[in-house]
Amino acid sequence: MSELLTSSTVDQYRSLIAQTSSRVAARFAETAKPASGASRADLQRLVDAVDLAGSGVGGSSAIEEIDELFLAHAVWFHHPAYAAHLNCPVALPAVAAESVLAAVNTSVDTYDQSTVGTLMERRLIEVAAGWVGFAAGDGVFTSGGTQSNMHALFLAREAAVAQLDEPRSIALSRMVVFATASSHFSVGKSALLLGLADDAVIEVADDGDGRMLPTALDAAIAAATAEGRVPMAVVATGGTTDRGVIDPIARIAEVCDAHGVWLHVDAAYGCGLLVSQRRRHLLTGIDRARSVTVDFHKSFFQPVSSSALLVREPRDLAAGAWHADYLNPLENDEPNQVDKSLQTTRRFDALKLWVSLRAIGPDRIGEMFDTVIDLAAEVGDVVDDDPEFELIGRSQLSTVLFRVRPDGASPAEQDALVAGVRRVLFESGRALVAKTVIDGRPCLKLTLLNPETTLDDVRAILAMVKDAASTLASIDDELELVGADA
Ligand SMILES: *Cc1c(COP(=O)(O)O)cnc(C)c1O
Repeated sequence: MSELLTSSTVDQYRSLIAQTSSRVAARFAETAKPASGASRADLQRLVDAVDLAGSGVGGSSAIEEIDELFLAHAVWFHHPAYAAHLNCPVALPAVAAESVLAAVNTSVDTYDQSTVGTLMERRLIEVAAGWVGFAAGDGVFTSGGTQSNMHALFLAREAAVAQLDEPRSIALSRMVVFATASSHFSVGKSALLLGLADDAVIEVADDGDGRMLPTALDAAIAAATAEGRVPMAVVATGGTTDRGVIDPIARIAEVCDAHGVWLHVDAAYGCGLLVSQRRRHLLTGIDRARSVTVDFHKSFFQPVSSSALLVREPRDLAAGAWHADYLNPLENDEPNQVDKSLQTTRRFDALKLWVSLRAIGPDRIGEMFDTVIDLAAEVGDVVDDDPEFELIGRSQLSTVLFRVRPDGASPAEQDALVAGVRRVLFESGRALVAKTVIDGRPCLKLTLLNPETTLDDVRAILAMVKDAASTLASIDDELELVGADA
């Protein structure tokens, strides 16, 4: 007997995959709530009870066990009452492709480990660069937007270092990056990992709704330069994580060109607009960026992980090349993607997008993203029209930010309800919403990424939010009465 997938275990492979897919199918068919609502203590007990040191129980039993342990308590992003974070239901063909790439276990670091896989990834990079408008661009698949952003800022750092005639340590201490307060936290984290100074990320003023003000950027770059700092990069966000707003990319590109600064566009969330027939214009100017982050595992409905960093100038990627005799001998002219990546062994995630584009087509994917954006606009109207809710801003993408405003509740009471409502819903498992902070005040957030979710589905979530809020408010009143008695 073999435990491995080889030519002698194809029958076991077939039956294990069949058993597994019918378990998963049954769960999808049955799931009545986005989460089980089991307490963390209960889940910890279930996890701790599994013997991971004994002899194996066999594939079939182990899968049966994770049916009860994992699938029974998983968080289901396809469920219409899941509206918390930037997680999507996944394109069906991509799930099939995922099982192919896991079985074959291709690694796309070198050509000799992947051959046609490397050529397929390169073709997709060309296609994605074409969507951006990079005539002769390049890029590489990554594990996610966080890695793509760090990689982009690494390339920007190296380009800036190359222009300075001074020791690297001094150059790094002078470098600055410009972004708004709404930019993704991975920008600040990257600055830390890239060895920049603690004050290296300069916050550029926004228009009050989270969009960068190009005039403020211009002034900030001039001021930093006057202080002897080196403008290393500007990060414009093509869809902010909370507000879902898009920086004015074309005008920011003009400022960057005028100052000769690297423009990175973080379109981790908004990249689906690249294939939208109706909203591509929201990313106008993105072709003037030097680098772009796209997260296919957000608005292209791909299973995690599926993301890419795209660059306008292929030579920019060379900053990350590193020679290793065993991988990329100098006499070898094979297309080794390891020369472009921060990773070595790397999943063939590109296969999922490839199969999705073939099966569904880019236009339909763009329509699916448009559908959730339309839905978010409708939900925004519903929330805005309801006196018990306060809508906070308008998203250009698919988030809805709001607070519950029960009759007579003070701002402090409204703020306190945010965490409480989220927790009550989370503990019930019936609906999952997120919370965040906007302009210093907490608020609830719906992130809508399921094109099959209807307005009525979201109305049902909003009704649960109200119920949770009134339960919490009445508990609060009782506590106050008890307090007054005492
Ligand atoms: C989600 C997100 C990221 C991070 O992407 P991961 O794939 O989660 O690493 C970066 N930027 C923005 C704007 C995002 O919304």
